[in-house]
Amino acid sequence: MPQILVIAEHDQGQLKAATLAATGFARKVGSAAGGQFEVLVLGHGVAGVAESLRHCGAVSVLTADDPALRHPLADKFAAVIAGVVRGRGATMVVAAASTFSKDILPRAAGLLDTGMLSDVIDVWPDGGDFTFKRVLFAGNALATVKLDGPLKFLTVRAAAFATPPPTESAAPVVAVPVDGATLPNQIEFVAREGRAAGRPDATEAPIVVSGGRAIRNADDFERLVGGLADALGAAVGSSRALVDAGITPNSLQIGQTGKVVAPNLYFALGISGAIQHLAGMKDTRVIVAVNKDPEAPVFEVADYGLVGDVYEVVPELIAKLKPG
Ligand SMILES: Cc1cc2nc3c(=O)[nH]c(=O)nc-3n(C[C@H](O)[C@H](O)[C@H](O)COP(=O)(O)OP(=O)(O)OC[C@H]3O[C@@H](n4cnc5c(N)ncnc54)[C@H](O)[C@@H]3O)c2cc1C
Repeated sequence: MPQILVIAEHDQGQLKAATLAATGFARKVGSAAGGQFEVLVLGHGVAGVAESLRHCGAVSVLTADDPALRHPLADKFAAVIAGVVRGRGATMVVAAASTFSKDILPRAAGLLDTGMLSDVIDVWPDGGDFTFKRVLFAGNALATVKLDGPLKFLTVRAAAFATPPPTESAAPVVAVPVDGATLPNQIEFVAREGRAAGRPDATEAPIVVSGGRAIRNADDFERLVGGLADALGAAVGSSRALVDAGITPNSLQIGQTGKVVAPNLYFALGISGAIQHLAGMKDTRVIVAVNKDPEAPVFEVADYGLVGDVYEVVPELIAKLKPG
């Protein structure tokens, strides 16, 4: 029976909702093949995050709490995860697919000399082992695969696994010992570039408004993309074209080499719909595209398409959404 360890992701004391989707994966495996799962929260001052996970269905919520883990530095986090996997006898280590897990999980798998699958979207038991479905090539192919070995590392796409309902019983919170002084220290934390104050993270928000090359400068981005996002209480995102042009920061990029989002509603404003961009947002429930080119590929995936100039259409939309 699998013993699953879910790695929780949080940001400054706030649990990332995608972690709950990873617990959805763990519960799916547990109900199909038996076994149980624990959740591991790493960081410093993580009592609140651990508390918020006590009803997620885990048998225990483990905390690795140490000042050395204040920032999610991959060398330290990977070493702690490897130690916990050994200590708890985990056979499957799971995290939501994200920038955080991309950085940390492969290192932990490497330390334990075991294989890893990323972007898993389905799992089923198969002759005492498991078969997984995962996305490849920017979402253009699906692979059905097995992972050799008794220990498996995986990241799962949050959109593929529903957040399970909270359990009545509360799991105990168990501290695992961490000696910060013995952890690797080759990576030094320098600074954190925060997202625009007051706006939600695109990977968490139910609505995301993204802008593309049609937006000519940072002021216009803030006025049009930021303005529509604020009118809707949404997060902002960007195509790589704007990141490459220095108009938006890298942290806003949606796509194959940026963030993968799956909100309820996604606005693509002046974005052509290149496959590398679609790879990051095509699991969205409802896509709205505004583009002046009626042949733009984005209209092939859009649920609602508006052929028009973002400089005319978006201010009108913002004005209509503003109260009064
Ligand atoms: C390995 C690799 C990884 C990549 N990863 C990513 C990634 O993660 N994310 C990403 O986004 N891209 C990524 N790209 C780049 C991707 O291929 C595209 O170049 C990029 O997405 C294009 O961005 P865009 O749609 O904003 O620009 P364009 O393709 O130039 O499209 C701009 C669109 O705006 C429309 N337009 C222009 N003016 C207006 C106006 N006034 N009103 C309305 N519409 C207007 C045009 O008709 C056009 O459709 C990657 C590329 C490679 C090779």
